[in-house]
Amino acid sequence: MSNTIQYTVDTDGIATLIIDLPGKSMNVLCAELIADLSECVDKVATDKNVIGAVLTSGKAAFVAGADLTELGTAYDRGVDQVQGYEWSRQLSAVFRTMETCGKPFAVAINGLALGGGFELCLACHYRVLSDHPRAVLGLPEVSIGLIPGAGGTQRLPRLIGVEKALPVILQGKKLNPEKALELGVVHEVAPADELLQRAKDWLIKKPEPVAPWDTKGFRMPGGAGANTPKNAQTFMVGTALLAANTQHNYPAPIAAISAVYEGCITPFDTGLDIESQYFGQLVSGVTARNMMRSLFMNKGAADKLVRRPEGIEKSTVTKLGILGAGMMGAGIAYVSARAGIQVVLLDTDIEASERGKAYSEGLLNKAIKRGYSTQEKAEVLLDLIHPTTDYDDLEGCELVIEAVFESREIKAVVTAKTEAVIPASAIFASNTSTLPITGLAQASKRPESFIGLHFFSPVDKMPLVELIVGEKSSDQAIARGLDYIRQIRKTPIVVNDSPGFYTSRVFGTLTNEAMTMLAEGVNPALIENAAKMAGFPVGPLAVMDEVTLDLGYKITMQAAEDQGDDYTFASGFAVLRKFVEDLDRKGKRFGKGFYDYPEGEKKHLWPGLAELYPLSEQQPLAQEIMDRLLYRQALETARCFEEGVLDHPADADIGSIFGWGFPPWTGGTLSFIDTVGIRHFVGVCDRMARAYGPRFAVSDWLRERATQGESFYPG
Ligand code: NAD
Repeated sequence: MSNTIQYTVDTDGIATLIIDLPGKSMNVLCAELIADLSECVDKVATDKNVIGAVLTSGKAAFVAGADLTELGTAYDRGVDQVQGYEWSRQLSAVFRTMETCGKPFAVAINGLALGGGFELCLACHYRVLSDHPRAVLGLPEVSIGLIPGAGGTQRLPRLIGVEKALPVILQGKKLNPEKALELGVVHEVAPADELLQRAKDWLIKKPEPVAPWDTKGFRMPGGAGANTPKNAQTFMVGTALLAANTQHNYPAPIAAISAVYEGCITPFDTGLDIESQYFGQLVSGVTARNMMRSLFMNKGAADKLVRRPEGIEKSTVTKLGILGAGMMGAGIAYVSARAGIQVVLLDTDIEASERGKAYSEGLLNKAIKRGYSTQEKAEVLLDLIHPTTDYDDLEGCELVIEAVFESREIKAVVTAKTEAVIPASAIFASNTSTLPITGLAQASKRPESFIGLHFFSPVDKMPLVELIVGEKSSDQAIARGLDYIRQIRKTPIVVNDSPGFYTSRVFGTLTNEAMTMLAEGVNPALIENAAKMAGFPVGPLAVMDEVTLDLGYKITMQAAEDQGDDYTFASGFAVLRKFVEDLDRKGKRFGKGFYDYPEGEKKHLWPGLAELYPLSEQQPLAQEIMDRLLYRQALETARCFEEGVLDHPADADIGSIFGWGFPPWTGGTLSFIDTVGIRHFVGVCDRMARAYGPRFAVSDWLRERATQGESFYPG
């Protein structure tokens, strides 16, 4: 008896297999489904009354992929390479039996089919895909540190050729119905309600149940291996590009291209075996664990609001107020209106408010040009944004987000003015980068309704929002803040109050370390390139130019003023001071910073750096620079954990990857410590504290954890 597949046979002798996992909103290839599928395939193969079968799903989507709760914990459960290989072989063998059992299998792909779900389709002899725009096909395994392990790297190139298959396998490119048909990945595209009949119409013709690669004299489209000039180029350039883009931090893309190359010059079944060997290596490795855990499982849980306090009714924002229509306010207005929320965008003068709204118009015009939006949709969105200078317009807002200048005084004034108009039940959130929320809440009459909602720039692109819990913030305020973040389809992390909270504080250690190295005479190009080698999207000096040097300077000066004599300037602050106070090089927005931005040319490091900071004779190894950057941030994160700024390692990891681009292969800042091993981590920090100063000093708390061998995630 199958629990996950409904099996019926009609009067024409066609078996229908409806995949429908009980109690789940999505079908995933879990162990039970694989066993049930194997049983159903045997039934089809051996029942003389059955002429063929059609597979489909009982859910809105077809099959979303493998069950990552099983794969994602493989490393932690000590699954080795051989066991990983066996997993892949097992699923691959079921699909292969289906393909070669002598009965034809068609698939009615009624919605999205990803990873193993798409591989299942590829193993069927005939594929009919729904014409619904959400019915996309794809192999996203590489993005979570794996490769397709159920024939995807073998069937797809044999079906459409290496050149067209590689972008799908290596970049996880999704295929919409039109593209899937054009590439020949599916045989037909049809309206959802006709899929089953079309598949049955094909079966009724009693087709030959043989895959193209099992026919005599089969030749791969475009040729196999590197034997054709085009393929030779694809493999050579592809491998070089992968090495450049991944800096060998990610084993999956290289494994994927190897599986395609090696597998396609061998017989099909050998190819499947080669694929399984690579899969086994990856799934038992730490990089895949890190990526599955942070990018998929923990991010998925955050998106579903795992940190939301219980017992509070779900809320929706219908009218949002935004104070300050500058860079951040304008971005928040756009993402909120995009979610259908009515926005009141307030600034000190109407031109500024309107400029804030015009930012949305600019983004929408770009989207229309690229075919992602239409004039009508753009108008609906723009109609939702109301620019104003009048506080009375904020009446009825369920949530107000303050994004005025980073000044405690100005923030206090606008808080009081707003609270005079908004309902007593409304939530007030500050988008401050660094000012402690508890302090800002002193300007509020309702500190329990006061939270921090820290967005990242540019707001329309950055997926993260850091929710900061002030000393008096109520569960109600946290829950409603999280509901809003979900409403605008961003990923939340929840942190406790402290200067710089979590993300700004740790990001500050990255930029400070880079400036310290610059002052020590380390070649700036080496700093930038080593950061990229470690897996950062851009070098730290370039990042500082992007966010403006001015911002870091002002934040530091404010903190110094607040703390008076107790304040210790960070090791790299002299560099920042020089650039802002003496050189007036405040970053990209001002046309100059650590880089020059000549018009129409690529930016380049400012030549004046060489004079200001003469290169030391002995340059460090790139690895040492990479380690300084990674260890410094991880150590600061551990301190945040120790101090209770962070309650959960998942918040640290998600925040670092999605907030400021900490390399995903590490799994994030705390996963990095677990990955290198906490004892080793402490050893390296001790050495660095001796070499570079007390900012690398390890606390007793962390040392004790290391002595106990206690990882941040349960082992
Ligand atoms: P910005 O200078 O671009 O915009 C600030 C806007 O606030 C301006 O349009 C200004 O006219 C307006 N304003 C000033 N006083 C006002 C008042 N009394 N009433 C109404 N409007 C007023 O600044 P920004 O970069 O958008 O930053 C805004 C806030 O967001 C700051 O607290 C900043 O620390 C924080 N933040 C900035 C970033 C970033 O990357 N820029 C990221 C996260 C958070």
